Amino acid sequence: MLDAILVWFRRDLRDDDHAALAEALRRGRRVYCAFVFDTAILAPLPRSDRRVEFIHGSLQVLDAALRARGAGLIVRHADATEEIPRLARELGAAAVFANRDYEPGAKARDARVARALAADGIGLELFKDQAIFDGVEVLTQGGRPYTVFTPYRNAWLKRLGDDDHRPHDSARGELAPLPQLPRLPTLAELGFQPTNLQTLGIAPGMPGARRLLEDFQGRIGRYREQRDFPAMRGVSYLSVHLRFGTVSIRRLVSAALAAGALRARDGDGDGDGDGDGAACWLSELVWRDFFFMILDHFPRVVGQAFRPAFDTLQWETDATAEAAFAAWCAGHTGYPLVDAAMQQLLHTGYMHNRLRMLTASFLTKDLGIDWRRGEAFFATHLIDFDLAANNGGWQWAASTGCDAQPYFRIFNPVRQSERFDPAGRFIRRYLPELANVPERFIHAPWLMSAVQQQACGVVIGRDTPAPVVEHDAARRRTLQRFAAVSPSGAA
Ligand SMILES: Cc1cc2nc3c(=O)[nH]c(=O)nc-3n(C[C@H](O)[C@H](O)[C@H](O)COP(=O)(O)OP(=O)(O)OC[C@H]3O[C@@H](n4cnc5c(N)ncnc54)[C@H](O)[C@@H]3O)c2cc1C
Repeated sequence: MLDAILVWFRRDLRDDDHAALAEALRRGRRVYCAFVFDTAILAPLPRSDRRVEFIHGSLQVLDAALRARGAGLIVRHADATEEIPRLARELGAAAVFANRDYEPGAKARDARVARALAADGIGLELFKDQAIFDGVEVLTQGGRPYTVFTPYRNAWLKRLGDDDHRPHDSARGELAPLPQLPRLPTLAELGFQPTNLQTLGIAPGMPGARRLLEDFQGRIGRYREQRDFPAMRGVSYLSVHLRFGTVSIRRLVSAALAAGALRARDGDGDGDGDGDGAACWLSELVWRDFFFMILDHFPRVVGQAFRPAFDTLQWETDATAEAAFAAWCAGHTGYPLVDAAMQQLLHTGYMHNRLRMLTASFLTKDLGIDWRRGEAFFATHLIDFDLAANNGGWQWAASTGCDAQPYFRIFNPVRQSERFDPAGRFIRRYLPELANVPERFIHAPWLMSAVQQQACGVVIGRDTPAPVVEHDAARRRTLQRFAAVSPSGAA
């Protein structure tokens, strides 16, 4: 038993099913909880950032939950590498407990904190919480990390036992009283302004996650059929909550299993139809673990192609490419579904998965622009930005990653639009200027004659941009670009 333990919250903003907190309550006589708004992370962010507001709101909820258990959350605005050791000393903690992070930057920070704590004889212990399996828990028969998803998923599912998704017992137990009740800094004190988070109806914290999960549980059976159609409410929208840990991955895996995910995989459906959708959704949760694992084992993917041969790809960098990149960022490429997707990102901080794949493919394969530039743009704007999943998604779309889309499979942006937004409902939602374009032209309005443009009041080049690139020509350039570096001439 340790006399006092400081639990350091990071991307795990809940008090239920929390590995480090459960372990601290089991092993510490006095348990304190803290969160640091890390100046090193906040400094480069825009002063209006949905993520900061989401975290702030989630901390208010967490603080209230912890107050009901004897003491609130200690919240500091400082450099975490200095503040955590200082706080641990102040509180007389024998150890700091936290949940493990797989990002290279976070691992380096934790190593620095561990060294500073060690100088005072204080330990840092890290626990698995973000993932179902991590480290060397799921390896190939040869003892190496998987680099292909399907065999990884099969091994993951084979290994999954009840203990792996059993909740940690952290929601009960008293916290040590604090000399004075801590006060959460306001957003303004942190140097930030409110965003449109509330208008968007994005509720932070544990209750926000609970509501979304309950809503999704009523639709999980339809997930497989509906998840590719951005105009439908087919997906869970839980990514921001997973990102900041306002819900645990174990709870979500348990929900998928309760809906019959494994029974459906065995070909032994439970008859209520939910199993198939749940199995498909569980697979997405496994992708999340997969990309954490890739980032953990292959940190070079930050900044480099997973497949080194593709680091020599000659991306477009001239003035035309710069203008095209600016058009992509602003949602002005002239391809309606691409532009609507970018508007969704800019106005809400979220983008539907099908559209992340489409816009990433468009940037890299139609515009020939380096995937790292798109990755960085998403990193700035996504409310659910997660280095592992974002990097994995970009390298998948750009064909530079492990188990990526082969480079010769290039999405046709018009065909994708016809297939996944057939009536143009999503397009019209985010591009109201196209509201009156007839359905048969909504995916490629530039095909309208001058008379048709006048008739619907949408003139190409005036009311909506002309396409920045011609897809077939762009496709040929991309095939040449990849063939020049692909060792076997094929991906
Ligand atoms: C280019 C690109 C960039 C992406 N960037 C991110 C990112 O920064 N953060 C992020 O969480 N996801 C990212 N994804 C994955 C995916 O698009 C989002 O997780 C998903 O759209 C979130 O919506 P949802 O919660 O409704 O998903 P659901 O369909 O309900 O899926 C449930 C959960 O599974 C996980 N998941 C689903 N698909 C993936 C995937 N391909 N890789 C890893 N995890 C997945 C997410 O945690 C998600 O919340 C990216 C995908 C691409 C193609």
